[in-house]
Amino acid sequence: MTSFVPLTTVFPGLVWLMAALALVQGLRRAALWRVGASAPVAWLDGLAKLPRRYLVDVHHVVARDAYASRMHAVVAGGLLAASILTALAILPPLADFRPYWFLVALAFGVTAIGSLFVGARRYPQKQKRLSAGRFQVLPFLLVAYAVGGTITALVLALGGGGLLGSVALALAAAGGLGLAFEVRHGPMRHAAAGALHLVAHPRPGRFEGRPDTALQPLDLDAPRLGSEMPADFTWNRLLSYDACVSCGRCETACPAFAAGQPLNPKKLIQDLVAGLSPAEPAYAGNPYPGGRAAEGARGALARLIGPDARIHPDTLWSCTTCRACVEECPMMIEHVDAVVSLRRHETLERGALPEKAVVPVTELRQSGDPGGRPLASRTDFAAGLDLPGIADREPVDVLLWLGEGAYDLRYGRSLRALIRLLREAGVDFAVLGVEERDTGDLARRLGDEATFQALARENIATLGQYRFKRIVTADPHALHALRNEYPAFGGHYTVTHHTALLLELIRAGKLNPGRLPDLSVTYHDPCYLARYNGETEAPPRGARRDRRHPPRDDPVRAPGDVLRRRRRRAGERRAGRAPHPRHPHGSGRRDRGRDRRRRLPLLHGDAGGRDRPQGRDPRRGRTPAPGGGGGPMSRPRRDPRAERAASLVAGEGPRPRYDRTRRATASGRPRRDPRAEREAQRIGGLARARYDLSQIGRSVGEAVTAATRAAPVAEAPKTIIVETPAFLVAVVPDAPGGRLSGHDRQVIGAARALAGREGAVAVIVEGECEGAGCSRRRPDAPARARGGLRPGGPRRPHRGRARRRRGASRPVPGIPRWRRSRPSRRGGPERGAVHQCRSGGRQGAGPPGPGPPGRAEPRPAPPRHRGAGRGRRLCGPAAGGARPAL
Ligand code: SF4
Ligand code: SF4
Repeated sequence: MTSFVPLTTVFPGLVWLMAALALVQGLRRAALWRVGASAPVAWLDGLAKLPRRYLVDVHHVVARDAYASRMHAVVAGGLLAASILTALAILPPLADFRPYWFLVALAFGVTAIGSLFVGARRYPQKQKRLSAGRFQVLPFLLVAYAVGGTITALVLALGGGGLLGSVALALAAAGGLGLAFEVRHGPMRHAAAGALHLVAHPRPGRFEGRPDTALQPLDLDAPRLGSEMPADFTWNRLLSYDACVSCGRCETACPAFAAGQPLNPKKLIQDLVAGLSPAEPAYAGNPYPGGRAAEGARGALARLIGPDARIHPDTLWSCTTCRACVEECPMMIEHVDAVVSLRRHETLERGALPEKAVVPVTELRQSGDPGGRPLASRTDFAAGLDLPGIADREPVDVLLWLGEGAYDLRYGRSLRALIRLLREAGVDFAVLGVEERDTGDLARRLGDEATFQALARENIATLGQYRFKRIVTADPHALHALRNEYPAFGGHYTVTHHTALLLELIRAGKLNPGRLPDLSVTYHDPCYLARYNGETEAPPRGARRDRRHPPRDDPVRAPGDVLRRRRRRAGERRAGRAPHPRHPHGSGRRDRGRDRRRRLPLLHGDAGGRDRPQGRDPRRGRTPAPGGGGGPMSRPRRDPRAERAASLVAGEGPRPRYDRTRRATASGRPRRDPRAEREAQRIGGLARARYDLSQIGRSVGEAVTAATRAAPVAEAPKTIIVETPAFLVAVVPDAPGGRLSGHDRQVIGAARALAGREGAVAVIVEGECEGAGCSRRRPDAPARARGGLRPGGPRRPHRGRARRRRGASRPVPGIPRWRRSRPSRRGGPERGAVHQCRSGGRQGAGPPGPGPPGRAEPRPAPPRHRGAGRGRRLCGPAAGGARPAL
């Protein structure tokens, strides 16, 4: 059978054509990266290390998702091998060598299997974190290229051709050219940009096994600070954003996204990608939580941040810089660097800090502490511990950097414990004391590089004055700044976390950690300790004394133990025998109904709590009454299930039927009757309801009920005769019927106190009080005074206030209206004034008035109370006609 086209030539030619198309598309995209700022790149070193970076470092991250790792290995490996082998067939000896085409067919076959894996993630149901859009076409392109290539290679291997070969070749061409075309804007861009990104990575230290996490120092004299538009990023950063494969792993790991903050790291990177080119297809992944749909302008010089730009400022400030996204990203993209760079522009160029950050940053600039607290009070937590200062003790082995937490109560307790442990282990340590400022890490994260650099230089100058071997701190942010950020400014120190030092002391036998009983300890790695500094072993090791890890002779296990355990746990997790640390409930749908049922409290037959232990009732916050806290079961309670069963109509039919008229009453278990109990506690014979709470717990029959209780016998009033009172204090309750309001009681109390001190008698006057010392009438307010004195008459204090207000607004000759002070609503112009009583005595209890007649020295100020300020109640001396009633 003859072939319509010479397959041995066209097939390899197709692959070369694909490569050429991919190159053109790649170059068109790369032209956009050139708008970025220049960046130093070690090209030769990067190219030499590319295979290792790809096969080891990238796949180390990819392998955290086992499915994605296998899928990628099969499809990418097969695609690369098949394409290279086919391209080499352009050489005549290979083109005619049939076993060679079997090998090519095998490579395409592997690619086809991998393509099915790719399709299985998107069809019939796409995984939620993956983006749709052009990524949905990728499986079809792969399948077409792989299947077409397999059939073509098999045809060539078998020496055939004809229609089948041509159709297969056409299929392979459609798929292959489609894949090549997608290099510019589609999913295949990640392959080209990803490889280049690994060569020109802005943080090559990440591939050398050290945590390369320090931010780049900013030149504060540069014409533009931070990044406002795509052109402000360096070109290799723009390249790195193009490497994003929209896998959504950063989105899943981001705590801000999980908490519903308007931040999605995948969308953030895709916004940076789309901001570079107006031709970029629309984003088809999960949006920022909150569903903001603004697109904003695109282009190398278009503003990226703004309420109407691609990235809202809230998105920027929602990031906690935890680096979870960076750790998870299989393309090794640096999200945090992008966020901080954009923040630097917002903070330094536009002064657009979020409201909550203004005060801490201002305080940092002015006082060296974000809370504005005195630096000297940083050591207050160590009261009584005689904390050594380095100025008196240098040189020391350990400089203990206290950090911001020293102002915090709980953190201060940890520091006290640490100081005791250091003393017990005989560590030679000291603190900076008042010379310790904040490291400035907070300012740097917020983009205020100027404040950070100022603080860093001050701290480095301070540290340069003293001799110490290393710095130990319990503050992960301080540790990160001192260890990783300060070297760029000339501060090179050995910085250790306190847990690592404690572990060292335990290993050296200077500390005995003791044994914890069966305890389960949950430990949360601080981001700035674990992700930024790779310290994950020391903190849990010191505390690991639980049942699954019984203590051994060696207090701390060998380092290999941890690795072995991690591997074992990973196997267990894969086998479903251990929970995944981030998905403890499994990745499947949770049975929320089951969870709710589990959370329901256990119900006991005796809801009144007869079996409840004596003592304080934790649920009610009060001590239960004698007899078990609740009253006895005195009333039958309803049992809905029993009632329902009783009303079921027996008969056929698929659905049960109920007769509502058959509802049983008083069925089920007995229950308390709080109303009856309350009634039993009531004390009879009194107008106001009073209750004898000692009756709680007695049954209704036992309780001393209102009927059986004898009315309390009123005590005879005690009479005291004062022969010659110095004067009388008349108190005139003006409520109808002589009843006392709360205010009246206060006035009477004040009168008694005053009378007792001054050797007088206080009298309560019922009805009219027209005698000497009883008048409340003021020359300027006769109507108000009369109304107040009329027995049973209405109290109209509001009239007085209204009058005062009217009086205040009346024009006063010689004083402009705006100069007159407005009277307060409570006191008014007469607040504290002393008014003349009719008898010539004085009325009012504002400022201390002159003493009673016959007393030369000023009397002490009378007690202040609500009524006193109004000048209405206390008068003296009084004439007769009133009944002494102390
Ligand atoms: S660094 Fe920011 S974007 Fe990344 S995971 Fe943390 S909060 Fe999310
Ligand atoms: S930034 Fe990285 S982790 Fe996030 S979607 Fe892109 S490739 Fe995946």
